[in-house]
Amino acid sequence: MHIQCMDCGTQAEWGTLGRCSVCGGILQPVYDDAAVWQLKGIQAGRGIDRYRALMPLQHTALPYLGEGDTPLIHARRLGAELGVPNLHLKNEGLNPSGAFKDRAGAMVAALALEAGAVGVVSASSGNASSAIAAYCAAAGLKCVILMEPNNPPAKLRQTLATGAQVMLVEGIFAHGPQALSDFLNAVARRANYYLGFVWAPINPYILEGIKTIAYETVAQLGAAPDVVITPVGGGDMFAAQWRGYKELYRAGVISRLPRMIGVQSVNAPPLLEAVQQDTAKVATLPYARSKISGINVPFTGDHALAAVRESGGTVVGISDEAAFAMQRRLATSEGVWVEPAGAAPITALTTLLERGDVQPSERVVCVMSGAGFKDANLAAEEAGRINDQPTVPFDVEAVSRMLR
Ligand SMILES: [Zn+2]
Repeated sequence: MHIQCMDCGTQAEWGTLGRCSVCGGILQPVYDDAAVWQLKGIQAGRGIDRYRALMPLQHTALPYLGEGDTPLIHARRLGAELGVPNLHLKNEGLNPSGAFKDRAGAMVAALALEAGAVGVVSASSGNASSAIAAYCAAAGLKCVILMEPNNPPAKLRQTLATGAQVMLVEGIFAHGPQALSDFLNAVARRANYYLGFVWAPINPYILEGIKTIAYETVAQLGAAPDVVITPVGGGDMFAAQWRGYKELYRAGVISRLPRMIGVQSVNAPPLLEAVQQDTAKVATLPYARSKISGINVPFTGDHALAAVRESGGTVVGISDEAAFAMQRRLATSEGVWVEPAGAAPITALTTLLERGDVQPSERVVCVMSGAGFKDANLAAEEAGRINDQPTVPFDVEAVSRMLR
């Protein structure tokens, strides 16, 4: 195993955090053939730790809370309605904390143990904080999460419940990724904490946990998908899956690679703009005003742009309203309640079919990033309306009259 820059190929010392010191590119672990070929023999089993030969760990097992092995659901009814009969939904909301970030949280905790750190420091206002907090608790590590002030209370609850120390830091995300990286690094070093920020340009090893989504999908489908559609914020889940598929291809487990299609809100579209304008890098936007938490970001990593181009994929912009409507349709027609970002890939399907970017006969996998309770404003409004209605008497006639 070694680590090297995805742009210029410069190798870095194992364990190095941050970007390439020569060109600023994103660093990535590289495995030798013997490690990659092990993918052929790995059977279904308990958690993502069974893929440890393809992880940046020498001797530390991942703490286990039930992460991974999330279901791949054949959405027959919705698929037929949308014109894609072979539509499969990878439901990452069934991870222990309710989001794919658990795959990263388990990795962060193992990396911290291996580095001999006493705890983990991270910054997040969303799903990463609850995942890291839970896995630190499972691994006996301290956990400090830095957040912007005035976060909605729902996002704080899960993080606090598993014992993390939360500090509110004014303007923590306002100074850009490099300043944030330097700041977190300095805090971590001073306290012998591990820097567990979930974004590859700051911690390049995180993806190695997330890429197991691709391993599982192929095992569950029995083949490679034709198309993988994923919501894109910082780009880690998107790029990590592409890495996983490439490793499966190298190992001979699959004989061809899927096209990777990213979905962003038109109100926060850094990767979409980079693809439309055919730029070499993803530029940071001066704004991000999507109501879809999880993909409301002004910057996406260049690793995601590379995954679009290498795989022959594309990026689609959707409206926030369309994602909310699809969230509801998915819940009522398939019984799967996801966060709005998790509904984004299916929201994009109609456009993709119209454009010819997806063919009706293709095997399509939509990755649903997190569970409905993660961002439950719509359901909360409806629950409020129900509670405001008059009650129905204990009477069969009365209840029968009310049936919709
Ligand atoms: Zn470089």
